[in-house]
Amino acid sequence: MAPSHALRCCKRALNWVPVLFINLVVGWSYYAYVVELCVYTIPNNAERISYLVIFHIFLAMFIWAYWKTIWSKPANPSKAFSLPRAEKELYEREERAEAQQEILKKVARNLPVYTRTTGGAIRYCDFCQVIKPDRCHHCSTCEMCVLKMDHHCPWVNNCVGFSNYKYFVLFLSYASLYCVVICATVIQYFIKFWTVST
Ligand SMILES: [Zn+2]
Ligand SMILES: [Zn+2]
Repeated sequence: MAPSHALRCCKRALNWVPVLFINLVVGWSYYAYVVELCVYTIPNNAERISYLVIFHIFLAMFIWAYWKTIWSKPANPSKAFSLPRAEKELYEREERAEAQQEILKKVARNLPVYTRTTGGAIRYCDFCQVIKPDRCHHCSTCEMCVLKMDHHCPWVNNCVGFSNYKYFVLFLSYASLYCVVICATVIQYFIKFWTVST
């Protein structure tokens, strides 16, 4: 295995550490709520069952949105944004930046591209070899151009963009609701624990 390939594999594995951390926190919260609170602390059966049902509904929504955010493949520019063969060869042979821009401008004329660089040039990705559509950016972690890219989120180890923006917002909302439900149901036992102990 080439050293650069091994390094890349290592980097890819390390990228999953924040996701693992979130999973461990959720796993711990599950144990604390279900076992410590519902099984050992709550004396009333009806209260225990209603807490468990509510908790599992919010947990399921949270996990579903989290899962969809992680595993939605980022959307890439379509084939229409790649240079045609002849223009691509011309572009690669050309060394002058202005002449390369002329080639890109000619191809981009037929494309719905309105955003330019600050210098007025057509945005082109040298890694993916495509003309970048508006709001498309190259992600160095995913190693691809991502449509409507918002940011690369380390907590889901994925780019947040066109394919998963809805799931990402849902993930944030359900994660907040999950915390609110836990706080609202735990608070009375939390206060009881500290007032009885002191
Ligand atoms: Zn790219
Ligand atoms: Zn990314």
